[in-house]
Amino acid sequence: MATAIDNAQHMIDPEEEQAFMDAIQKWIDRSVKPVVMEHDHEDKWPEELVGEMADMGLFGATIGEEYGGLGLPATSYAKIVAEIASHWMAITGIFNSHLIMACAVERFGTAEQKAKWLPKFASGEIRGGLALTEPNAGTDLQAIRTTAVRDGDEYVINGTKTWISNGINGSCFALLVKTDPKADPRYKGMSLMIAPKGEGFTVGKKFKKLGYNSIDSAELVFDNYRIPADNLIGGVEGQGFFQATGGLELGRINVAARGVGLAEGSLRLATEYAQLRETMGKPISEHQAIQLKLGEMVTRARAARLLTLDAAEAYDRGERCDLEAGMAKYFASEAAVRNSEESMRVHGGYAYSKEYEIERYYRDSLLMCIGEGTNEMQRMIISKQWVKRNPA
Ligand SMILES: Cc1cc2nc3c(=O)[nH]c(=O)nc-3n(C[C@H](O)[C@H](O)[C@H](O)COP(=O)(O)OP(=O)(O)OC[C@H]3O[C@@H](n4cnc5c(N)ncnc54)[C@H](O)[C@@H]3O)c2cc1C
Repeated sequence: MATAIDNAQHMIDPEEEQAFMDAIQKWIDRSVKPVVMEHDHEDKWPEELVGEMADMGLFGATIGEEYGGLGLPATSYAKIVAEIASHWMAITGIFNSHLIMACAVERFGTAEQKAKWLPKFASGEIRGGLALTEPNAGTDLQAIRTTAVRDGDEYVINGTKTWISNGINGSCFALLVKTDPKADPRYKGMSLMIAPKGEGFTVGKKFKKLGYNSIDSAELVFDNYRIPADNLIGGVEGQGFFQATGGLELGRINVAARGVGLAEGSLRLATEYAQLRETMGKPISEHQAIQLKLGEMVTRARAARLLTLDAAEAYDRGERCDLEAGMAKYFASEAAVRNSEESMRVHGGYAYSKEYEIERYYRDSLLMCIGEGTNEMQRMIISKQWVKRNPA
């Protein structure tokens, strides 16, 4: 488990943070806005943007400066993710899944593993993600069947992962396996491995999706795939379940930030449209029915942002923050869904046209309720933590 110090981040000068936000904003205006519609509609991998993200240091955003990363605190990271997601959520997944993999190595890896992998992760030379889910095991991660059997100085891995973000375009994954399938309780037999693509590691099918286009979601197949035993994160078997779910705290803050971005972006589009569209001789923003919607949307977006920053601040202080991250993820993702739906209604019939952007927000927002723990599970985690912190 993470100790209080494990995830404590360095603080950032407000001016330094603002300069970074300005650079992100300029990049969005210059490079993202002109290509988002075409890429999303054609489900096209944004190769040029990925190169620019690497140049800006986004693949090392939360990785420590000693490894060549930016070492940003979770608060700055959440603000950056929200800003990008308010224009195109899907591209934040390209560096977020990668950073969750890096986070697992940085928090739980050996000194040798950190020195070997983190500089390459930070530069974007090696990009990847987190491979946990299997066809029979999503929420119930302990039910995974992928096995890693020790053979001398190597592990031999067999199994199939599904729905893995960056599965095609990434080249390395934090892979959750069973090193002792008979262990009881089941989590004691689970380990997390650094798995670069190689012989025996192939990509299966690419999923066609409702939204979250342009980032690939794929099946990964392991058939007698061999990796050095040195790739076992932390060097000790049986820690994988906690290592994988420990990284999810940052993952949940990230999904919350994406929800904030989608909720704020949906609000921005509705606000613009409501002032331009006229009915009965006045802008629809002056009709009470639309005012009620905008009033609710702006409140919801603001509340989502504050909950997300609250969780990120707790993370930066090095505190255990599964309650705060869970609340932020749950609320912000639901806010994204509600705001995008309300923005669709403000747009009337034009919301249903691919010539307008709002339909993408609606499609993309629904994923936020599933990733990094479904919202059903989130509420159970929130409740359990709340009761634990408030013993009778
Ligand atoms: C676009 C996309 C990208 C993804 N990217 C990744 C990735 O990069 N890496 C990765 O490992 N996975 C990834 N996933 C998988 C994702 O994490 C899982 O889909 C998610 O964990 C839910 O698992 P499941 O789909 O198997 O649903 P299930 O676990 O089968 O759940 C089905 C329903 O039952 C509910 N449920 C299940 N168990 C309980 C319970 N005990 N109590 C109450 N309700 C319960 C769930 O909340 C849900 O409503 C991705 C999924 C998608 C759609």
